[in-house]
Amino acid sequence: MAKIPYRFYLSEDQIPRQWYNLRADMKEQPDPLLHPGTHKPVTTDDLSPIFCEELVKQELDATTRFIDIPEGILEMYKIYRPAPLIRAYNLEKALKTPAKIYYKFEGNNTSGSHKLNSAIAQAYYAKEQGIKGLCTETGAGQWGTALSEACAYYNLPLTVFMVKCSYEQKPYRRAVMQTFGAEVIPSPSMTTNVGRAILQEHPDTTGSLGCAISEATEKAVTTPGYRYVLGSVLNQVLLHQSVIGLEAKKAMEILHEYPDIVIGCAGGGSNLGGLIAPFAADKITGKSNPRLVAVEPASCPSLTRGKYAYDFCDTGKATPLAKMYTLGSGFIPSSNHAGGLRYHGMSPILSKLYHDGYLEATSANQTDVFEAATMFAKIETILPAPESSHAIKAAIDEAIKCRESGEAKTILFGLTGTGYFDMTAYTSFLEGKMNDYIPTDEDLVPGFNSLPKIME
Ligand SMILES: *Cc1c(COP(=O)(O)O)cnc(C)c1O
Repeated sequence: MAKIPYRFYLSEDQIPRQWYNLRADMKEQPDPLLHPGTHKPVTTDDLSPIFCEELVKQELDATTRFIDIPEGILEMYKIYRPAPLIRAYNLEKALKTPAKIYYKFEGNNTSGSHKLNSAIAQAYYAKEQGIKGLCTETGAGQWGTALSEACAYYNLPLTVFMVKCSYEQKPYRRAVMQTFGAEVIPSPSMTTNVGRAILQEHPDTTGSLGCAISEATEKAVTTPGYRYVLGSVLNQVLLHQSVIGLEAKKAMEILHEYPDIVIGCAGGGSNLGGLIAPFAADKITGKSNPRLVAVEPASCPSLTRGKYAYDFCDTGKATPLAKMYTLGSGFIPSSNHAGGLRYHGMSPILSKLYHDGYLEATSANQTDVFEAATMFAKIETILPAPESSHAIKAAIDEAIKCRESGEAKTILFGLTGTGYFDMTAYTSFLEGKMNDYIPTDEDLVPGFNSLPKIME
C-alpha cells in the first residue's frame, strides 16, 4: 500500500448524499424536549412558530436512519467540501509517538469552522418555505458568520445577536457578518424585552450565549414571517454535522484505517456529535469499539461537572426544556475565558451517550489549550481556533500516552476551525497574561439552583 498522503481528499462525487441520524441506532433514546409551560413533550405545533417546518421534522425524527441532502444544499457544500483528512506526520514526529494521528479539518471556508455545514441546511429550508428572515445568536462569532454566508447565498435577511464581549473583542468578525449583509446587535440589548430585563438586573454583564438565544428567539416569534435558527445543541444540527463523520469514515476506509480513539471539542456538541456519529453507530451495534472522547473547557464543564437534568436552553427560560448535562441556564462563564465552548448545556444526544457510557469526557485548562494550539500551529502550519485546540490538547495527551506505553494507536480528532479572529486571546497567552479560571463547587451552586423543578 502506498504511503498515506499528508492531505487526503475524497472526490466531489464522494461527498455524502445523505446525513446520518444516530438516534435511529441508539438503543435508548434521549429524553424528549418538553414544552416550557406544560412540561409535556413538544409537538410539531409547539415548534413550528419558532423553527422552519422541515427542521422541526428533522428535530423530532428519531427513526429515519439516513436523510437525503437536497441538491440545493449539495450545490453549496461543493464550494468547500469535501474537507481534507490530514495525517499529522509532523506532530507525530515532534511527539516521538508511535501513534498515528489524523484530523478532519473543517476550517476551509470563510466562516472558518464546521458551522457552515448546518447554516447552509437551515438557510436553505427557510428559503424553500418562503420564510421572510432569520434570527440567531452568536458567541465567539463563527455561527453568525457561517449563517451570514449561507443567508447571503440563499438571499435571506438575517439578524444576529452577538454576545457583547465578543462584539467588542472581535470587531472584524462583526464586519465579516455585515459584509455578508447581516444586521449584528450586541447582546444583551435594549431591542428585546428579555434583553432589557437582563440589563436591568445585571447592567455590567458582558453577555452569554444563553442570553443571546433568548433575545433571538423573542425577535423571531415577534417578527411576522421570521424564524429562529440555532447553531448547535439541537438534534437537527448534529444531523447536518454528520457529514463530517461520514466523510472522515469514508476517507479512512479508503486508506484502510479505523480510529481507536475519536476526539472532539464540545461546546453545544454539534461538531463532536457529527464527527462521532458513524463511529458511535459501530460502537452501539457492536461492530467495533473505538473510544469516543469529548473535551470541554475547565471553566465551563457541563459534562464533567454538570447535572443530567431537564433545563432551559436559554437564560430567559423561554425555550423548550432539554434533558442534558448542564451547569444551569443561570450559569454565566467567566469573561476571562477565551473563545467559544461557553454554553451551559450539552446536546441531549451526546448527554445520553455520555450517561450510557458510550462517550467519555475530559476538561482542559485554557493555558494548556493555548500551549497545544501554538505548538500545533508551528508544526502543522494551521492556526487553530481555541475551541478546536481543546481537541488538539487531548489528542497530544493520548499520543504521549502511546509513547509511554509503546502502543501505536490510531487517533482521529476534529479540527473544527481556524483562529484568525482569536488573536487577542493568543496575544494574551503569548504575553503570559492568560490565566486559568476553574469554578469552585461553590461557584457552580447558583447555576444548579436555577434548574427548573420537573416531575419525571
Ligand atoms: C462553535 C465552534 C465549536 C463548538 O461548537 P460545537 O457545537 O460544540 O461543535 C468548536 N469549534 C469551532 C471552531 C466552533 O466555531
